[in-house]
Amino acid sequence: MTKAPSGTKPGLEITLDPEDWAAFRRFAHDALDRSIDYIEGVRGRPPWQPMPKAAMEALSTPVPQDGKPVEEVFGEFQQNIFPYPLGNIHPRHWGWVNGSGTPEGIVAEMLAATMNSNLTGHDQAPVWVEMQVIGWFRELFDFPSRAGGILVSGGTMANLTALQTARTAKAGFDVRSEGLSSNKAGRYTIYGSTETHYCITKSVDLLGFGKKAYRAIPVCDDFTIDLKALKKQIVADKTAGFTPMVIVGNAGTVNTGAVDPLEELAEIARAHNMWFHVDGAFGAVAYFSDKLRPRLKGLPLADSIAFDLHKWLYQPYGLGCVLVKSAQALSDAFSFEANYFRPLAGGVSNGPMTFNDIGIEHSRRFRALAFWFSMKTQGLEKFKALFEQNVAQAAYLGSLIEGSGSLELLAPVGLNVVAFRYNPGGLSENDLDNLNRLLLIEIQNRGIAVPSATTLDGRFCLRAAIVNHRSRREDFEVLAQALKEIGDELKKKGGWAA
Ligand SMILES: *Cc1c(COP(=O)(O)O)cnc(C)c1O
Repeated sequence: MTKAPSGTKPGLEITLDPEDWAAFRRFAHDALDRSIDYIEGVRGRPPWQPMPKAAMEALSTPVPQDGKPVEEVFGEFQQNIFPYPLGNIHPRHWGWVNGSGTPEGIVAEMLAATMNSNLTGHDQAPVWVEMQVIGWFRELFDFPSRAGGILVSGGTMANLTALQTARTAKAGFDVRSEGLSSNKAGRYTIYGSTETHYCITKSVDLLGFGKKAYRAIPVCDDFTIDLKALKKQIVADKTAGFTPMVIVGNAGTVNTGAVDPLEELAEIARAHNMWFHVDGAFGAVAYFSDKLRPRLKGLPLADSIAFDLHKWLYQPYGLGCVLVKSAQALSDAFSFEANYFRPLAGGVSNGPMTFNDIGIEHSRRFRALAFWFSMKTQGLEKFKALFEQNVAQAAYLGSLIEGSGSLELLAPVGLNVVAFRYNPGGLSENDLDNLNRLLLIEIQNRGIAVPSATTLDGRFCLRAAIVNHRSRREDFEVLAQALKEIGDELKKKGGWAA
């Protein structure tokens, strides 16, 4: 006879639900209260602090064999996890391109977890919420009604999804059945600027083109793609027997926020029968603002747009979207026949949409709810005003840097991104690199602000990407002041020259 697992009595099955719902309710209310305190008080804490060794050790323990009360686990969370975030919810976090999230997002994520729906498709309200959100984006990006889209975990997945769609549409044969090793396959090439996010090359690699198929075209002084060089490369590749397939334009490069000339790129793509994709991970949404729209002229000419909701739309991680001009092209690229997933004439299967037929994932979380809540609560006008506020803040930081005497911009301020360094004069490029590296670490370690770093034209620089709805003008004054003071202090101290 087999022995029943411990805790099991005949007729009394075990479950993960609490025995005492009232106690669970008290814990859950407490956790929500602490979460709200955490957000409300974020400005009073440093943006970032290093994790102490004790916390790391507490997070490196063996598998717990037996459970303990949830309050006790929550205590550990509060001690070892809660105080040590990346800090992107803080008003002075401008590192990489990290979104700040929303208070309503906390609740929406909780409600989505409560429903715990699986968004493959089927007849359920969460499917309608996602379709609603995609419909809003179709409208906001001036895409036609035949356009389709899907929510994904982020910009990388959105770009990968778009490039698989492009590959299927432009291969010229049934590439999904026969693969790129078929003798019908051309030697396909994909084009974008040297400033394009690495996830495009990653996608090119994953889709089997080989990384060398990505043609990194040089940029102009403003870090936008050099159109002449692009045209030349396409013609040269054609002559050499390649088949140019996709042009990737940037609506906001990660380094400097540069926006490629999208209208011209669309024209070149059309002339060569290529797919025109736009990586607008953070920048694309600026198109919603009447004021900023002229900077993204031509965006609706794209065959596909990849963008994030967890960056400049301020939504919780991980939330991105891909929008494709032709919904048919999207389903051509992903549809599969699965005998366990055929719709019936009624019942649960009879849904309006099967998302697993237009994307990579099968099981999918209820991603749309946070944005649905946010858009309904705040309204489009609020988002537009926030984009304009962030762009104005970038310009303001740029002016503080230019007016400071010992700081300088290393690129024109593009949309909401500022690239800069401390340069008091009289130092070699090499010394400036070393000094600015130390300066960045000090600014972060002292809990002042979190800009991040990049390299532009071979020079180390600090950068602030402002996708933060909590930042105020005074926060940028704090940064500019600290850069000057700590820069001077480090310069005087010396010891940084390699
Ligand atoms: C962030 C970013 C990506 C990648 O998006 P994830 O959401 O981080 O996967 C791609 N392109 C650009 C321009 C980005 O800023």
